[in-house]
Amino acid sequence: MNVAIPDENYDAPRRVYEYASFDSDPVIGGFFTNNLEHKLLHHITHEIAHAAQCNHKYFHQMSRIKPHGDEFKMFYRELREVFLNPFLPNQELMEAKFRKHKKLAYSIEIPNMVAASRI
Ligand SMILES: [Zn+2]
Repeated sequence: MNVAIPDENYDAPRRVYEYASFDSDPVIGGFFTNNLEHKLLHHITHEIAHAAQCNHKYFHQMSRIKPHGDEFKMFYRELREVFLNPFLPNQELMEAKFRKHKKLAYSIEIPNMVAASRI
């Protein structure tokens, strides 16, 4: 997990990814945002769900549960619905901004990379 918030590109549109097995889930999956605090809240809610899952396991004296199994997803879903998802921007618009930004970044970077490779 990386929660470093760089000074540059602070408000650049980006895609925040979740684990592949539930990245496409509409509630607990990945998302688009231009606010790095959303990425931070994503990590916080994810890790708190693990803590809740751990307490749940001990309270119910369960022997073993999957790290990202049903119990984790249940707690994570509740946390995301309250603390993160209501604050996310419109996903269709932000995805369009992300794709435009990515295309622009490549069009600027590729000539620089080609020039650098000739040195
Ligand atoms: Zn996890």
